[in-house]
Amino acid sequence: MELVQIIVFILVFALTLFLFFKEAKFIYRNIKLGRPKQIDDNKSERFKRMLLIAFGQKKMFKNLIPAFLHLAIYVAFLITQIELIEILIDGFTGKHRLFFNLVEGSAIGEGIYIGIITTIEALSILAFIATIAFLARRNLLKVPRLTMSEMNGWPKLDANIILFVELYLIICIFLMNGADMAREKALTGEDYGFPISGALMPLFANFSPDTLKILERIGWWGHILGVFAFLVYIPHSKHLHIMLAFPNVYFSRLFEKGRLNNMEAVTNEVKLMMDPNADPYAEPEASEGGEEEVPEKFGAKDVQDLNWKHLLDAYSCTECGRCSAACPASQTGKKLSPRKIMMDTRDRLEEVGKGIDEHGPDFTDNKSLLGDYITTEELRACTTCNACVEECPVSINPLDIIFELRRHLIMEDSNSPEEWNLMFNNIENNGAPWQFSPTDRLKWADELEKGKA
Ligand code: SF4
Ligand code: SF4
Repeated sequence: MELVQIIVFILVFALTLFLFFKEAKFIYRNIKLGRPKQIDDNKSERFKRMLLIAFGQKKMFKNLIPAFLHLAIYVAFLITQIELIEILIDGFTGKHRLFFNLVEGSAIGEGIYIGIITTIEALSILAFIATIAFLARRNLLKVPRLTMSEMNGWPKLDANIILFVELYLIICIFLMNGADMAREKALTGEDYGFPISGALMPLFANFSPDTLKILERIGWWGHILGVFAFLVYIPHSKHLHIMLAFPNVYFSRLFEKGRLNNMEAVTNEVKLMMDPNADPYAEPEASEGGEEEVPEKFGAKDVQDLNWKHLLDAYSCTECGRCSAACPASQTGKKLSPRKIMMDTRDRLEEVGKGIDEHGPDFTDNKSLLGDYITTEELRACTTCNACVEECPVSINPLDIIFELRRHLIMEDSNSPEEWNLMFNNIENNGAPWQFSPTDRLKWADELEKGKA
């Protein structure tokens, strides 16, 4: 029987890894569909940010109650990995509580083991409460940022699935530990000494040791199968952020939010237009990322025109909506929602990726991110205030994608409001946004002279 369990365990584990890495490979290839962008500067600063923002959840602490609830789930998730390691080793070896067996008889060793399991159980209770609160917030309280139109359908279901899976995993842990404690007590007169799952023992008082073994196995297998299913599910879900938040924060831009990532070639042209004394042969200023000096096309129409960091951003989005809640355009009823920009980019990227897999690298479906997913009206509603960038807990930059799409609208499609075209023409012809010739600029001073005379 034990051998059968080991074989089933190894087969399920191998299938899980196969499905997970197959999807991970698809996502990695999709991210690489983006244009190249070199990000290899300031490694220590980047690492520090990653520790603070991704690992330390620094940005979550702007709002204390959700931050605390989120922290409970996050810390429980991290610490539970210790018990998960024991479950995995038990699964491969057919042993039962291998770590406990190793320390059994040593007061310090047993104390550490009981301490770790008790910590896991205490955090699991907190995580259980936090998960119920998150479910209520989404489904009963209907917090506005979690119920915006882009969250209808699959995104809402996805968020609920994950929360229910978290509850299920916690219930399995307590079923496993509670039944195991009761069985040990029934067989030997002593239990493992876990105070929290020990409190559940009265629930199992009338069961025989054989029944308790079955219940313990249901909890054990239920937990590990739930973990495996979660691992396979994650790449299809917004919960991919629990893995991608780390590289995403590491590669996020370091320079000031208000500084535009100008195109070298265009910046040089504008400088020449605005400043008659500018040296046309001067070295252009370098832009961050070392992008090509004269791009093949301006801005982005589809996902392949964005760079890989934009695409990594899209896959890292937690769909939390903090960006949209802070966005002045969203909050004043405009069509724009920065979260939707990220979700659309990811959806389109998945569509293109699947198309390439089915039809080859030249796949085209005559659709594009700009137009079929994101409209001109949304792009024009952006005030470029950077509030979305400031709010994002995983350092995503929706504004950068908005800029690229706008760039394409204006520089490739000449699609801009009449008032903007007038301003562009004036800058080109007069070196200023106004309709006056540069030679007339000092005329107002002539009037002063006349007044003096
Ligand atoms: S930069 Fe644009 S999208 Fe971001 S918050 Fe401001 S208006 Fe909204
Ligand atoms: S872009 Fe950032 S703030 Fe906006 S929904 Fe995604 S993770 Fe949340």
